[in-house]
Amino acid sequence: MIRSLNVTHDIVQIPLPLPQIRSVNAWLLRGDPLTLVDTGPAEDRALATLETELRRAGVRLEDLELILITHHHLDHSGLAATIAARSGASVAALDRVAAYGDSYQERLEADRGFSRALMRHHGAPQAVIDENETFWEQLRAGSQPWRTDRVLADGDSVRAGGRELRVVARPGHSTTDTLFVDDRGRLAFVGDHLLASVSSNTEIYPAVEPDGTRPRARVEYLRSLTLTATMPLRSMLSGHGEPIRAHGDLVERRFGEHQRRCERVLAVLQDGPASAYEITAQLWSPQTVAEQPLLVIWEVLGHLDLLLDAGVVQECVGDDGSRYGVASFAMRQPPANRLTAGIRGFRFQDPRNHDRPGGGRRARASRNRQPASP
Ligand SMILES: [Zn+2]
Repeated sequence: MIRSLNVTHDIVQIPLPLPQIRSVNAWLLRGDPLTLVDTGPAEDRALATLETELRRAGVRLEDLELILITHHHLDHSGLAATIAARSGASVAALDRVAAYGDSYQERLEADRGFSRALMRHHGAPQAVIDENETFWEQLRAGSQPWRTDRVLADGDSVRAGGRELRVVARPGHSTTDTLFVDDRGRLAFVGDHLLASVSSNTEIYPAVEPDGTRPRARVEYLRSLTLTATMPLRSMLSGHGEPIRAHGDLVERRFGEHQRRCERVLAVLQDGPASAYEITAQLWSPQTVAEQPLLVIWEVLGHLDLLLDAGVVQECVGDDGSRYGVASFAMRQPPANRLTAGIRGFRFQDPRNHDRPGGGRRARASRNRQPASP
């Protein structure tokens, strides 16, 4: 059983049950106003656990005065409306999060339609797309719209639990990621922006303009991470798992993981152009691809975006969707820095320097059998 934990004398970590990825953290801040950061999903089991653990911490759900939401994902926002209705607590969230809360089901429906088109465009068979509908049903079941009483902007400050929290927009994992930073206490609530034990996924979302190109979420995410790496904080309290202590080291490790996965994607493409869906089969077991097709496509597209951004890979858009191949002009460039993220402090190495022909087979032999991250 997951138990809550006093992180400091006035911050309590409350892990709430989640179906596939074990738990999501809500954070109780005991000071004035009495605050909960993130809520858990709109499910009976999560609500019951939250009430029990709040009681163990000596407060009732009805006592809560403020709810902060780190991003719009349902495991962080699903119970906001229920808690606000029962306690009278105000909800404060970044403008982008608030916009989601206003019309959650409509936004979810739009995301679903976009993702179906995305999967089709990137080579997923129709049967796989149809089967992924259960994923969207789970999202619908665990979410609920809410009203945001105080809409925050990037750079604002909010009083919560006896602390002054600075609001920092850090998109990437989702479009709405927010850090709540206590500069004096040198800690931050970071949602899923950075997680201790697993690399955060990045959702692929449409262009803001109808005729615009799709943003490269993973490029934006790594840019966000470099900003986070140098923040002078002692701990980061995240959405899943344990608090993070040496976040600079962790960011560096995450960059290494991205480097290695980029190398594996590139190794697959050495054998010829492929769709994103075809690449997933080279990186994950058939079971993982079948169970989480959208998440693994997001993961591959995210790394392809990094490779596109570095000019190492080309995308060819045809009538039947996109295929990716090694950029022909890349071979004419000097070997160093062909594969670079161009991000301050972190540079991807050219994988072909240490992954010569044959490396593709080695990379595929070590294919990852773990599920995609949350
Ligand atoms: Zn999330």
